[in-house]
Amino acid sequence: MKNKHFPQIISPDGHSISLPAVSDNAVKIVQELKCAGYEAHLVGGCVRDLLLDRTPKDFDIATDAQPEEIKSIFRGCRLIGRRFRLAHVRKNGEVIEVATYRAAPSPTDDVDEDRTHIADHGQVLRDNVYGTQQDDVLRRDFTINALYFDPQEQSVRDFVGGIADLEKRVIRTIGDPLERLRQDPVRMLRAVRFAAKLEFNIDPAMLTATSELAALLLHVPPARMLDEVIKLFHGGYALRTYDMLREYGLFRYIFPFTEQCLDGITPNLSSLALANTDNRIQLGKPVIPAFLFACLLWDPLQADVHKLQDGGMDSRRAWSVAASDAVRDQAQHVAIPRRFVIVIKDIWALQPLLEQRSPKSIHRILGHKRFRAAYDLMLLRTEVNEIKSEIAQWWTRIQDADQQERESMIRGLRETTPKRGRRRKRKSRAA
Ligand code: ATP
Ligand code: MG
Repeated sequence: MKNKHFPQIISPDGHSISLPAVSDNAVKIVQELKCAGYEAHLVGGCVRDLLLDRTPKDFDIATDAQPEEIKSIFRGCRLIGRRFRLAHVRKNGEVIEVATYRAAPSPTDDVDEDRTHIADHGQVLRDNVYGTQQDDVLRRDFTINALYFDPQEQSVRDFVGGIADLEKRVIRTIGDPLERLRQDPVRMLRAVRFAAKLEFNIDPAMLTATSELAALLLHVPPARMLDEVIKLFHGGYALRTYDMLREYGLFRYIFPFTEQCLDGITPNLSSLALANTDNRIQLGKPVIPAFLFACLLWDPLQADVHKLQDGGMDSRRAWSVAASDAVRDQAQHVAIPRRFVIVIKDIWALQPLLEQRSPKSIHRILGHKRFRAAYDLMLLRTEVNEIKSEIAQWWTRIQDADQQERESMIRGLRETTPKRGRRRKRKSRAA
C-alpha cells in the first residue's frame, strides 16, 4: 500500500476521464460544497468506471461536511440510513449520494457501544465514525474503489495504488484481506460482482482469505444478503457471477439448498435462469427477483415434494408444504419479502397446471397475473428435459393465437387427452 499521507495525484493529462462523461449535477454539488468551504470529490465506483471508460451506474460524492451540514446547504437533501448516515441530494431529478468521510472501525472500538460494535466473529455491525479523507480511503473495500476525482481540477487522487490495480485488472482489498473480509464478509461477494462485471481477476491473497472465511456469510443479516443478491444477479452479469461464486465456494452460503441439488450437469436450471436474466437485461426487459428465487429454489422444492410424497402425503398437500418450507428455509440466508413469496408460490403453483393443460383451465391460466413468469420457468424446465417440448411449444403458440385458433387448440386437447378420473356429480337430494 502507498503511504497513506501522500496520495499520488494524477493531473488531467495523466488519466482518461473526460468531463462530459461526468454528471453535471454531481459536478455542481461538488462545487457548492467547495464554495461552502468543504472538501468534496467524486469517489468510488463512478471514478473507477470513468477511468475504465464505462458508464457509471451512479455518482457518489465524499466530503468532510457532516450530514447535518450537507442538509443545510442543499434544499433537496434527505438524510438516510441507519448503518451509514448518508445524504441524498436531489438535483434536476437526479439523486446523488453525498457521504461524510468515515473512519474504518478499529477492533479496539468494540467496547465503545456508541461508535462501533464488533461482533464475536469480527464483523463490523455499525460504523458511523467520521474521519479525514485518509481515513475514508482506508475504510473502503478495494483499491480500485478508493479513487477520488476532483471535477474542477480534473485530477485523480490515489492513496492506495488503485490506478495500478485498474491497469493490472485486479481486485485487491485495502489492507490485509483476512482482516478486511472478516470485518465485512459481504466484501467477498462484492469482489466477485466486480470481477464478473469488469472481467478483472481477484487478487490471489484475497482468494485464499475467501476460502478460509466464506462461512462468515452465514452471519450476515438476511436483509443485507437480499440487497447483495439482487446486485449480484440483476447487474447484467449474473451467469459469470454465478460461475465465480461456485468456483470460490461462496454460492453454498447464499443458496445452500440449491447447491445441494447441483449434480455437476450443466447447464442446470439455475445457470439457465441466470443466463436468461442477463439476456432480458441486455434487451431492456424487466426482471423480478421473485422469478430468480422461483428458478433457483425449484430443484430443492422438487426434492422436498418427492420426499413428502414418498412419506405418504398427497400431491396437493406435498406441494403446498414443500413450497412454504423451501421459502422459509432459504429466508434464513437471504430475506424473501412477503410480496416476493406470493409471486414465487404463484409461479410454482402454475407449473403442474401448465403441464396438465386441462382444457377447462386454459383460459384461467392464460389470464393469470403470473402466467408469463410461470411460462418462462416452464421453458427453462423444458431445456433441462423436465417437460416435453411439445407442451412448451403449445403454450408458445396459444399466446399468439386469435380467439378462434385458441378454441380450436383447446378442442384439440379435449380430443387427445384421455378423460381420466372424471367423476359424475351426484346430486344428493334431501328426501
Ligand atoms: P456500483 O457500480 O455497483 O455502484 P460501487 O463501487 O459504486 O459499484 P457501491 O455499493 O455503490 O459500489 O459503493 C460505493 C463505494 O462505497 C464503493 O466504491 C466503496 O468505496 C465503498 N463501499 C461500498 N460497500 C463497501 C463495503 N462493504 N466495505 C467497504 N467499502 C464499501
Ligand atoms: Mg455506486
